[in-house]
Amino acid sequence: MDKRERPRLAACPWPVGVRRFSYRLFPGHCLLCGTPSGRPLDLCADCEADLPLNRPSCQRCALPLATAPDGDLTCGACLARPPPFQYCVAPLRYEFPVDSLINSFKYRGQFSRGALLAELLLAALQQTALPELIVPVPLHWRRQFQRGFNQAAWLASYLGRRLAVPVERQLLSRHRHTPHQQGGSRQQRLHNLRGAFRLNRSLSGQTIALVDDVMTTGSTARELSGLLIKGGAARVDIWCLARTPLEK
Ligand SMILES: [Zn+2]
Ligand SMILES: [Zn+2]
Repeated sequence: MDKRERPRLAACPWPVGVRRFSYRLFPGHCLLCGTPSGRPLDLCADCEADLPLNRPSCQRCALPLATAPDGDLTCGACLARPPPFQYCVAPLRYEFPVDSLINSFKYRGQFSRGALLAELLLAALQQTALPELIVPVPLHWRRQFQRGFNQAAWLASYLGRRLAVPVERQLLSRHRHTPHQQGGSRQQRLHNLRGAFRLNRSLSGQTIALVDDVMTTGSTARELSGLLIKGGAARVDIWCLARTPLEK
């Protein structure tokens, strides 16, 4: 277990003293209900308590599970075919209001939403060993041009700053525009992804956290973590804001 001091919840990456002072001047307002949050986070305690936490979920890939069986929580897919990544941290389920927060961040560039979501992810990472490198899931240049930014890269930079871990935005690139991965068979999804990504340099035993906003089927996470492991990474974990159930 990593013993480095963890950052406390806060809605901006400034030093703690500056944050405390700024929140005395400009207290946090809840982005969901608009009331003063009374703490250095733009979310009130009541709205936080109502968030759809991703529990119970597969301890390997964070797939939401309907019931919590005793003991080992591993989904059928991970038992049948263990993924190349070690495990996935996905604190929330992609349901209301998490879906609208993510969509406002991703499609309308509302970075206050992005910062709040990143802080919720940071809170879920308290017990996690820090990686040597944080790497975002790459976006095809065409989609990045349309959107104006890569939401995974924005999150990776935010987390890297708060955790003092280097971020390598260019380690992976996406060379083929792939259709959205939800729907279709597993075979079809894997076929769509084959050759879509490239690792731009070889690795030498680094531990890596691969960051994305939402993990849907897990095909992209499997493909990219496999590529990183083949390229020399010692271990890959997935960090994402939210996880969707497989059938939705
Ligand atoms: Zn609220
Ligand atoms: Zn699983």
